[in-house]
Order: sequence, then structure tokens, then C-alpha cells
Amino acid sequence: MEQLAINGGKPAREKLLAYGSQWISDADIEEVVLVLKSDYLTQGPTIAEFERSVAAVAGVEYAVAFCNGTAALHGACYAAGITEGDEVITTPLTFAASSNCVLYVGGTPVFADVDPTTFLLDLNEVKKKLTSKTKAIIPVDFTGQPIDMRKFKAFAEKNGLVMIQDAAHSLGASFAGEPVGAVADMTMFSFHPVKPVTTGEGGVIVTNNPDYYRRLLLFRSHGITRDHQAYTNESEGPWYYEMQELGYNYRLTDLQAALGLSQMGRLGEFVQLRNNIAQTYSNLFEDLENEGLIRRPLVHAEAISGWHLYILHLQLDHLTAGRKEIFEALRAENIGVNVHYIPVHLLPYYQRLGYEKGSLPLAEQLYECFITLPLFPKMTEQDAKDVVNAVYKVLRAYR
Ligand SMILES: *Cc1c(COP(=O)(O)O)cnc(C)c1O
Repeated sequence: MEQLAINGGKPAREKLLAYGSQWISDADIEEVVLVLKSDYLTQGPTIAEFERSVAAVAGVEYAVAFCNGTAALHGACYAAGITEGDEVITTPLTFAASSNCVLYVGGTPVFADVDPTTFLLDLNEVKKKLTSKTKAIIPVDFTGQPIDMRKFKAFAEKNGLVMIQDAAHSLGASFAGEPVGAVADMTMFSFHPVKPVTTGEGGVIVTNNPDYYRRLLLFRSHGITRDHQAYTNESEGPWYYEMQELGYNYRLTDLQAALGLSQMGRLGEFVQLRNNIAQTYSNLFEDLENEGLIRRPLVHAEAISGWHLYILHLQLDHLTAGRKEIFEALRAENIGVNVHYIPVHLLPYYQRLGYEKGSLPLAEQLYECFITLPLFPKMTEQDAKDVVNAVYKVLRAYR
């Protein structure tokens, strides 16, 4: 058997392959330069163009761009009217921002466990957490796999809840033929460099609800409006504006919007390339699954995933090493593996708030077995094969 790099053997690759990376073209750069040479670096016309491109992909009326996805989620919680005393149900298998946004507006995040096959928020678990204080649900399209939003929406409507979809991973994905964003009351897309397309930092909320749209616009820009039809008081003159709410400066710049707009033109290609790599992985990992060393990620039959992340589920019962040793051995092979995510309720800040270890057994157990492989559109077929070879090499050494 080949000696592992961690034990002094030759690594599977010469250079580290990152787990995720943006893909910026010369055309993207030219679009940003055009804005740099224009009159507007911010609050200009490119923002609205970018917003329209995102609304079109999601199949909705309105889109509001924010300086990042976290600010966008904060805006969505504000627009939904979540406030002190309100509970919002979400998944623990996500990035902290999915529930931090609830804390920002004074609400209480309530975590419900995940579905054992898709690893997405489980509606049956959500039902167990429903109280008279529940105001909203924030499911997350973890790994890019879209959740069955119709099912959640029906439940939410019956119970008077707002559905906010954290689709940071799933721009361009669809469920039962409907694009992500088309069904929830509000949907958030992130444009961080590892996400489906990038603006450097950026986030967008899409919605069909004109009232949410109005509140999102106010919130993004200091709570100030210059729309005279919306004024509470009489206009005092052409300079007049009103601050009606306590908003923030959460705006995206036109430079970023230009990058985003240009990148949106390649979204379909990016999603296709991610699907191709995921398919390559799943084909080549069949033997490893048959040997009982891993489980491959499953996608619901009606879903087309955005494949933001490809996560192997290690069958640690059949391995002689733990996840940490396997992680370190793969890094030594120059495979940029990662772990998504430490369950949010286990983070020290949430522990201080009183969330308890052991309260979400499936999510906690899954976290112990998860390892994320590199996956991004610019990866080559050879890169993917290097990853597969390294995974076989390491896992068979620990069989
Ligand atoms: C990236 C991410 C966010 C936050 O987006 P930013 O643009 O980085 O602020 C929120 N939720 C999930 C699940 C994410 O992966």
C-alpha cells in the first residue's frame, strides 16, 4: 500500500487544492473598471441592474442587494417584524449567520433537528418546536440542496408564520421545477467568493411582497426615504427626506454590483460545472460506499442541487482513525478538505445563552462524521480525480 503523505509518503497532489474558490473572468474585470470610470461608485444604476438579474433567476418581483448575506438576513428578520419575545425555528447544521440574524432583532432562535437523508431542516422536528411565540422559520439549503419549500410554506400559512429561506448555497438550484426563491416569503442569496457567484462581499433578499420590499429598502439605507409618496409629514422642500425607521448603512457598491451582474451571466454554467464534479465524485466513490467506509450525499429526487458543498459522511465504525486524523491525512495529501459546520448551538456564544449539547442528537452525530471535499466550477476533472485518489488512499489505509 502507498505510504500516506502524513507518514512521509508522496502527497497525492503537489499543490494544495482549496475547498472553494471564485472564478473571475477578464470580462468581469472590465465591467468593474467601467463602473470605476463612471459617475457612480455607489447608489448608482448598476445596483438595480444586478438586483433585476437576481430577481429574474429566482422568478420573483423584487430583489434588494445588501453589503453581505448576513446583513441581508438581518434585513429579512426586520422586514418580517421579528422582535423581542418572538421565536424563530432554524437548523443547527448551518453557518452562525442563519440564527445570529434572529438575535440581532431581539428574537430567540430555536433549533430543530435535521432530516436523516437530506440533512436539511426536518418539518416533523419543526412541528415539535412550534409554540404560540413562533413567528418565522428559517430553513437553510445546506450544501446547495434546495429544501421542499412548498411543504414548509403550507405549514407556515396554516400557522401564520413567515418563511425566510437561507439560500446562501443554492442560487440557481430548483425544487420540483421551481427556482429557489420563488416560493418562500423572503429568500437570501450570498455573494461571498466561495458561494455560487460573487460580488466580493454581498447578499440579496428576493421577495414577491411589496411591503417587505419597502421595509428592506428602508432598512438597508438608514431607515431614510426620499419617496415623497411615503412621507409621514409634509415635505419642507426639494431637499427633504425622512428617517422613518432605525436602519443601517448596509448598501452594496456599484463596483460590486458590476462584478455580480457580470458573474450572473455565468451562473448556469457554474451550477452545471458543480453538478458535473459532484457526479464524478459520486460515480467514483461507489466502491468506497460499498466497502462501508463512507456514505455519499443524497439529493432529493425532485431537487436540482447547486452543489455548493460535497460532504462525505464517514462511517467511523468501520474506520480505525477518527475524523480529525482523516482530515489531517487528507490535508497532508494537499487536498483542502474542510468541515461544515460546527452545529450552531454548540458554539461558545450559544452555549452561554443556554443552548445545550445533546439537544439535537442527529445534527451533532452527523457533524462528527462530516468532511467537505473541494468543489468549485474552476476545478478540472483531474483535480477531482486527485481528490478521489487521495480519499481512497487515506480511507483504505485506515480500514
Ligand atoms: C455564507 C453564509 C451566510 C452569510 O453570508 P455572508 O455573505 O458571508 O454574510 C449565511 N448563511 C449561510 C448558510 C452561509 O453559508
